[in-house]
Parts: sequence; structure tokens; C-alpha cells
Amino acid sequence: MIGYTYQKPGSVAEAFRLKEDTPEALFVAGGTDLMVKIKNREVSPKALISLRSVAELQGIAVRGAVHIGAMTSISELIRNEVMREKYPVLVKAARRLGSRQIRNVATLGGNLCNCSPCADTATPLLVLEARALLQNHLGTREIPLVKLFKQPGETCLATDEILTQVLIPAFNATRKGSGVRTIFFKQGRVKMDLAVASLSVLLQTKGNRVKKARLAAGSVAPVPLRLTRVEDLLEGDNLSSSLIAEARRLAEESVKPITDIRSSGEYRRHIVGVFVKRALETLWARSET
Ligand SMILES: Cc1cc2nc3c(=O)[nH]c(=O)nc-3n(C[C@H](O)[C@H](O)[C@H](O)COP(=O)(O)OP(=O)(O)OC[C@H]3O[C@@H](n4cnc5c(N)ncnc54)[C@H](O)[C@@H]3O)c2cc1C
Repeated sequence: MIGYTYQKPGSVAEAFRLKEDTPEALFVAGGTDLMVKIKNREVSPKALISLRSVAELQGIAVRGAVHIGAMTSISELIRNEVMREKYPVLVKAARRLGSRQIRNVATLGGNLCNCSPCADTATPLLVLEARALLQNHLGTREIPLVKLFKQPGETCLATDEILTQVLIPAFNATRKGSGVRTIFFKQGRVKMDLAVASLSVLLQTKGNRVKKARLAAGSVAPVPLRLTRVEDLLEGDNLSSSLIAEARRLAEESVKPITDIRSSGEYRRHIVGVFVKRALETLWARSET
């Protein structure tokens, strides 16, 4: 393996100081994406700055919105009571990420900052309308999570910026009487695999009428994709078989899947359509009367 220095700051301020001293250094979280890239010589950093011991990036706290530290591991996310109770769509997606060993090391921040179209935590966070807190030595900015993803492997982060927190707006996606329910689907070649396609849906209805629809698909576009045309179609209309058929058609039309070793583009398009139909039918059947 190629040589690099490895530093482990204890605070965000120290991490920024190290980055100023060695601008070419890369931040590393769990390393489950980055170390693979180093091993495959896709990147050859001269220095790594580990975020593992940075206290401010750890943990999950409810302060109005739910604040999830970027260094929260996928396993911690799954174990957390608030996440399990209020945001099962994210917990379900996290449970499908890699193996137990990977989930113990991999972090939420790393999954998002790696900016893969198939990142499993991205689509549930998009339908929950999450926001991202980004920080450098000059200060902090808050952006809608959807703006983080620029293209495969490239976020909107400046080289000296880190993702510090992911914020989920204060609402309970499972509260009785709210009419809100969510669902997550993932298709891989085998059970433990990167997604061939994935879909998260949040639906809020009053009777049969759709008050709010949020849909996001993974592995079917250069970045995790909100299906906004499908959302616009559904909102304000009454759920029916013909509306769901139209939603499926629009979803298939909205995606831009590629063909690679995991799947053909056409199969990915087909799967997204199937998922949209299945998700809407399932959530419709679960509606409160
Ligand atoms: C065997 C295996 C199976 C996998 N299966 C899946 C799967 O099913 N689904 C899936 O989505 N992924 C999967 N992955 C990919 C990977 O495990 C996840 O993307 C993981 O969440 C990455 O997190 P990490 O902490 O290891 O990131 P790292 O590898 O440490 O970092 C990834 C990238 O993000 C940057 N970064 C990390 N944290 C920050 C931060 N806070 N601020 C700024 N930049 C940051 C790093 O510089 C790097 O460029 C798998 C990987 C392996 C090896």
C-alpha cells in the first residue's frame, strides 16, 4: 500500500488546523470507501486526517430537529431509539447497507460524502427532507441535503469543508393520525450488495387525497434522485389505480440509469417503476380511515 501520514485530531478546530498545514490531506471517517479506493490506486493521498476521535461529530440529539453527527456509525443509527420510532425508513435502509462488520465501521457522513448514486442512506434522507451542516475554519453553512450531491464521487463540499451534522426536520413520520407513512425498497444482485436500484417514499394522505408525496430513487441517475415530477403528479390528487399507473410511467421516464456490471440500464428503469407501483399500493393499503 502507498505511504501516507495519518493524523487523528480530537476536535473540529484541530482537524481544520491540520488541513491548513497539509491542504492535500484527505479526511477519512470509517474508511470503508476511501481505503478501498487507496488500495485500488484510484486516489493516492500523501496524508489522511481521521475524524474518528472528533467528539463534535458523534451522536444523535433531538433539538427540535434531529441532529445526527456525521461520524455516527450505521450500526448506531440502527440501534438508536428515536430513529427506530420516528424514522423507520432510514433505519430500514441502514439495515440493508453492507454487512454487520461494515455497518459497525461505516459512518453516515461517509456514506453521503462518498457521493455514490447507490448510497443507501441518501434516498430515505431525501424523502425526510434532511439538511446538511457543512463547516470549515471560517464558519458553518446549512444546505438541503439534495444540494450536497453534484455527480458520482463529487459533493458540493469545498476541499477544506467537512460535513458535521445531518438534520432531520422535527416531525414524526409514524405519528398516529398524521396520515404519514414511509417505505424503502432495495434490489441487489444478492442480499448483501450495492443497490441495482432503490426507492424511498414518504406519503401523507387525508382520506384518499395525497397531501404530500416525496419519492427518491438510488442507482438510477448520476446522484440519488428526487422524483419531483411524480411528487407533483400525486399531490392534491386522489389515490387510484390509474394514478399509480401514471406515477409508475413518470418514474420510469424520470430516471437516467446506466448499464454496468451490476445491471443493465433498462432493468434498473423497470425496477424503479415496479418499486413505485408497489410502494404506492402498499402505502395506500396502510392508509388510516
Ligand atoms: C464490502 C462493502 C460493502 C458495502 N456495501 C454498501 C451498501 O450496501 N450500501 C452502501 O450504501 N454502501 C456500501 N458500501 C460503501 C461504504 O461502506 C459506505 O458508503 C459507508 O457508509 C462509507 O462510510 P465511511 O465512514 O467508511 O466513509 P470513508 O470511506 O471514510 O469516506 C468516504 C468519503 O467521504 C469523505 N468523508 C467521510 N466523512 C466525511 C465528513 N464528515 N466530511 C467530509 N468528507 C467526509 C472521505 O474523505 C471519503 O472521500 C460498502 C463498502 C464495502 C467495503
